[in-house]
Amino acid sequence: MACCALLKIAKWIYLHTCVCLLGCKTGALNSAAPQTDASAQAPSRAFTDRAKLDPEVAESLSRISEERLASTVKTLVAFVTRNSCSAALGPDKGVTGARDFLQRELTSIPRMKVMLDPFPQPKCIPPVMGNNVIGYLPGKDPTRLVLLGGHYDSLALSGNPDTREAERFGGGTPAPGANDSGTQASLVVEAARVMAGKTYEATVVFVAFAGEEQGLVGSKALAEHYRQYFPNARIDGVINCDIVGGDTSVNDSVNLHQFRIYAPGAPRETGRAADGTNDSTSPSRGLMRFVGYWGGHYVPSMVAVLRLREDRIRRGGDQTPFIAEGHPAVRLIETQENVAHQPSAADVFENVSPAYLARITAVVVASASALARSPSPPQNFTASGNASRIRFSWAAANRAHHYALAARPAGEPYYRRRIEVPADRTSYEASATDFGVLTVEPLYVSVAAVDGEGHESQFAYPELRCDETQCVAPPGSRDATAVTQ
Ligand SMILES: [Zn+2]
Repeated sequence: MACCALLKIAKWIYLHTCVCLLGCKTGALNSAAPQTDASAQAPSRAFTDRAKLDPEVAESLSRISEERLASTVKTLVAFVTRNSCSAALGPDKGVTGARDFLQRELTSIPRMKVMLDPFPQPKCIPPVMGNNVIGYLPGKDPTRLVLLGGHYDSLALSGNPDTREAERFGGGTPAPGANDSGTQASLVVEAARVMAGKTYEATVVFVAFAGEEQGLVGSKALAEHYRQYFPNARIDGVINCDIVGGDTSVNDSVNLHQFRIYAPGAPRETGRAADGTNDSTSPSRGLMRFVGYWGGHYVPSMVAVLRLREDRIRRGGDQTPFIAEGHPAVRLIETQENVAHQPSAADVFENVSPAYLARITAVVVASASALARSPSPPQNFTASGNASRIRFSWAAANRAHHYALAARPAGEPYYRRRIEVPADRTSYEASATDFGVLTVEPLYVSVAAVDGEGHESQFAYPELRCDETQCVAPPGSRDATAVTQ
């Protein structure tokens, strides 16, 4: 027993040292970050944070290297341009050189499976084949995929409307693309490095997309044909990163401890549509909650700023084609962006904060690892009754050690409180107040499966909305691909 207890203490110290190393590495800037560690706030009442962190995930986080991230960005910038239409420029210049570099980097990682995913880019002058660069770690369950990615192609427009098409589709203009897209491509490779060597339930797929700047061409292609590579697989979540360098010309010390995460509701808020509200549910919002919750617990030096729409107004990213196919997907982006640096020759390495890039990489590694190690959510979730008396039921889930019931007020993005239910039960009755919510307040409820090591699944979809009279699936929640008009 004593030995066991010692082992537990040693494990705890190891885990907390790993997390601290990551946070402490950022030096004085870290003091700007809100503390979520209960012990740091000397609470007047006991509170047990039930989020259980996995020491192996923390070990991955401890290996993230600012220096390596910076070096990869610099190497990508050195290709002069990575415009997807610049394929003919040769081995040391243009998108083909960058592609080969990323492929070599991924191939150098033990156990990583690597492939190129070609797709046509007929609008390029002349037309070319683009290539997504893909690495993956096969999971125990090959039917589950967790995908993290970011495009590696760059673009620079001079601002002259007469030459705009030639610059976009011709490919010759220098386009350093340090922040957009060197940072996210570097993040993808670094995540692959530190996540390799560990086992996952789901297959983890690391994608450097091409063709983004010509209209999300590479991500559209992969969203449509990913089953060619992963037969019978479904996508648990896509974490897309785009502009994650923490541009130091616009982000202050508080901004550098935050990031925006974009996720649409159902129907999706796209284009010029107004931002959505928390009173909605969608698979992407579920993934947003997962990244915000687990990313926040593993990396307390970073705070997720939740944006309730698919992307910035009239802007897009590689998450969109996946959402359009019905998969949960989110976009991570720096807190403030300097639009003068995108897409332009002014997007140089000097504006990138490697420390910020390391922190946002940690958020992605933490949430992707947590998701890939988690069980699948319980099936056939229902809730009946009303906010005063909610009757939950669900089908038993594989690998469940227990279940977590949770609820959030319709005005809030995160669950207030989790109620643990033993694995031998598949029903439970609770009231809104049991979750810390007023019974007169509409609330969303759902259930997750938690394994013996504390890995919590995503919550079952759709969440059900309970008010004083009933619990129902919100209108539109069954069609997560519909778009707000
Ligand atoms: Zn971009």
